[in-house]
Amino acid sequence: MAANDYTIGTIGSHSALQILKGAKDEGFKTLCIAKKGAEKVYKSFGVADEIISVDHYKELFSLQDQLVEKNTILIPHGSFIAYMKIEDFKDLRVMYFGNKDVLEWESARDLEREWLSNSNINIPKIFNKPEDIDRPVIVKFYGAKGGMGYFLAKNTEDFYEKISYHINEKYVIQEYIIGVPAYFHYFYSPLNNELEIMSFDKRYESNVDSIGRISARDQFALKKIDPSYVVVGNIPITVRESLLPEIYDMGERVIEKSKELISKRGLFGPFCLEGVITPEAEIYIFEISARIVAGTNIFEPYSPYTYIKYGKPMSTGRRIALEIKNAIEKDRLQDIVC
Ligand code: AMP
Ligand code: AMP
Repeated sequence: MAANDYTIGTIGSHSALQILKGAKDEGFKTLCIAKKGAEKVYKSFGVADEIISVDHYKELFSLQDQLVEKNTILIPHGSFIAYMKIEDFKDLRVMYFGNKDVLEWESARDLEREWLSNSNINIPKIFNKPEDIDRPVIVKFYGAKGGMGYFLAKNTEDFYEKISYHINEKYVIQEYIIGVPAYFHYFYSPLNNELEIMSFDKRYESNVDSIGRISARDQFALKKIDPSYVVVGNIPITVRESLLPEIYDMGERVIEKSKELISKRGLFGPFCLEGVITPEAEIYIFEISARIVAGTNIFEPYSPYTYIKYGKPMSTGRRIALEIKNAIEKDRLQDIVC
């Protein structure tokens, strides 16, 4: 079997363009499951050989016979997590790139925390009781909702005032780390047992990235402008080269620990450590995404780092397809799909 005997499929949002383009470049057939209204975008870019339109992404589960027949390998991304339940994926009959056991570890904040702290990664302090708040905190809600509703609180009283607008929502109270945000994108290949640094981004978030355009005086005059963190896009960054060894080591520690904690295969494929770098150059990680993140979209056709390694176009989407192609050639597909 070769790449063109398989179809790489994904749902039409988040990083689908990059995934499908990468799959085509590596010789796969491609399929996009798009919501009605979004088909025309995927059609206009010419990256999907086939587009199936649905009212809701959940319809993916009723399309399984068709997908299996086409030898489809599904590539998960942020919209899978945001719009479907992880339990549903457990029984999926279609080939799925990645280790499904990782899903619950990255989506439950306490497990995620256990994984990161056991990997010797600095993480912001968590306050279990609002009464314990003794420094500025950020309050975050569960699920990949793109930073919606997050708020800052300076003390317990401020917390109770702001939380009163969020009834019955699960949240976590985290120390607010002062520094610059940075998202570190990696790829770990279980075929050659190698970790690669892919790229870095920072997010473009509304309204926090525009508050600085309004003077403090006007912010007071306009009364309540609370920062919000709704992601609308991404901005590329490179980091000081002297930070690379620590960034690389962090990635390795997370992979090694995942093999102990999660299951023998652990985490593999693309993943992202999301954090803040302080003025003392300390890196704090507040979240891990165990799949492709949309911040890699900027690096089409390549990032500075993937260009140095590959010397040709290599996005994270294409790297996924290359891994699948290598696995097919080595007869090891079962090692990277489940
Ligand atoms: P969407 O299909 O655009 O609603 O995205 C699904 C989830 O992925 C969102 O809830 C966000 O958390 C995340 N996401 C989407 N686009 C981006 C982006 N450009 N950068 C960071 N996260 C994103
Ligand atoms: P998240 O949805 O968890 O990726 O976070 C959304 C935004 O909140 C990002 O811009 C982060 O930089 C910021 N953020 C999240 N957690 C912290 C933290 N503990 N300290 C400072 N900023 C944070």
